[in-house]
Amino acid sequence: MKNLVVGAGFSGAVIANLIANELGEDVLIIDKKPHLAGNCHDFRDKNGIMIHKYGSHIFHTSDESVWNFIKQFGNFNNYQHKVIGDIDGVRTSIPFNLNTLFDVFPEDLAMRLEKKLLDLFELEKKVPILEFQNQNDEDLKLLANFIYEKIFLYYTTKQWGVSPEKIDNAVTARVPVFISKDNRYFQDKYQGIPIDGYTKLVENMLNHPNIDLKLNTDFKEISGPFDRIFYTGAIDEFFGYEFGQLPYRSVNFKFEEYDKEFYQENAVVNYPTSEDFTRIHEYKYYLGDKSNRTVIAKEFSESFELGKNERFYPIPKKENFDLYNKYLEKSKTLKNVYFLGRLGDYKYYDMDKAIARALSVFKELKCV
Ligand code: UDP
Repeated sequence: MKNLVVGAGFSGAVIANLIANELGEDVLIIDKKPHLAGNCHDFRDKNGIMIHKYGSHIFHTSDESVWNFIKQFGNFNNYQHKVIGDIDGVRTSIPFNLNTLFDVFPEDLAMRLEKKLLDLFELEKKVPILEFQNQNDEDLKLLANFIYEKIFLYYTTKQWGVSPEKIDNAVTARVPVFISKDNRYFQDKYQGIPIDGYTKLVENMLNHPNIDLKLNTDFKEISGPFDRIFYTGAIDEFFGYEFGQLPYRSVNFKFEEYDKEFYQENAVVNYPTSEDFTRIHEYKYYLGDKSNRTVIAKEFSESFELGKNERFYPIPKKENFDLYNKYLEKSKTLKNVYFLGRLGDYKYYDMDKAIARALSVFKELKCV
């Protein structure tokens, strides 16, 4: 059997590895980019700092099958991600949690709010902001307005070009109000950064005698026939935009290098009340890279325009899902063509979810 995998990000690399390794079949994997690992691509710069070219990637999962799969290809450190938010100049923890209360309010008010929150919610409960706004108590109403305005409104408008109500609730629910003193961004059982980088991890997945890799190669340049095609590129592009273009958000990173050990106190600082960029990444924190210089990236969100920038995020809202469903229906008429990944499925997958999806595509394949 001859298989073609389009895209050498996580989704493509996982499916290529499984087909080569478990089915013993030949795989050609191509990517139009000059490098592996898609938007998880990283590299060491001249200072020895591991740079995430397309913004911070922190691996986190509670899915045992994903963890057991991925750890075969590299070791991870025990990095536990935290995000600091700059709220009108006050540096505090994001997601908004019980510690944040005491950073942004006078102590007596913070204590009153904490008590009311703990009367209403169980400890460790995560409450999406759009749900948290349905409060009857006057104090909690004020708190909900504060969190909405100071954490979500401007940041979401910068990130998505619209206010929080105009995108799927699941987007802001990723960063809930957290009734907890745990300042970590994720509570998953497994989290960390691959010690040799994501690119190396993907390289290891593709290091198999049955796998042939071609970078700088567009799908249009490849001629078959193939017994199966696994397509992780944009599904609307695959079908020549027949029903119209699916909207995406893009991101532009402005890199800066400084002649000092650290630029900021944390790997990621969000700016939910000020600045044109959404957040600043400082890369040396992830692997504890030692250098007396540092590299940061300011993250600017923008809408995706064909030929101008790259697709980063599908935009989760109903009209876009309706359009995607037309492509999905059409894809079902094709035999032996499988779509997966953020762009192939038009889904806002984290890395672990993209891997889980590739594992399940492979499982289905074995069943037929
Ligand atoms: N968000 C926000 N303020 C923040 C952090 C997140 O409004 O300080 C919202 C925003 O809409 C963002 C979403 O929550 O797009 C999800 O954030 P996450 O950090 O998960 O986004 P990612 O890292 O995937 O870009």
